[in-house]
Amino acid sequence: MTAAEDWLLDPSLAPSTGGRLAPLYAGAAEGRLTLPFCAACDLPLELEQQVCDGCGRDDVAWRDVAAEGTVHTVTVVHRRETGLVRAEDPYPVADVELTSGHRLLMAGRRPSAPPAIGTPVTVSFRFLGGVAVPAYDAAVPASGPPTPLPQESPR
Ligand SMILES: [Zn+2]
Repeated sequence: MTAAEDWLLDPSLAPSTGGRLAPLYAGAAEGRLTLPFCAACDLPLELEQQVCDGCGRDDVAWRDVAAEGTVHTVTVVHRRETGLVRAEDPYPVADVELTSGHRLLMAGRRPSAPPAIGTPVTVSFRFLGGVAVPAYDAAVPASGPPTPLPQESPR
């Protein structure tokens, strides 16, 4: 596996960047998280949602949102599709509640233990067959090398 390859999936599973989700992938290609809102009442919409639950209109406006949220729930996938799933071990998929109000299912940007519910995450991107797809990064507690205790100099 080279650095350009995804840790989780085979590149043949790269999503199509056209169609209804084209704004998502166009933003992701530039490192932006772009998600749909109702153009009439500004309610956050699901990725494939075509009619607003709030006002019933069908005008969608895509906007960049803050790439941060918290883990709403997480599941660990044990099923492996030989040739399609590269991970050797079961891997977590998180349902992330973004500060924008959207909910997105995504895998981690790199292999990791499942994040606890409520864990703050940022959203960046994995690259699957050259296509940027959202992926969470769990906040890692700051942990540098331990600070040495002051020692008295020998006399
Ligand atoms: Zn609406």
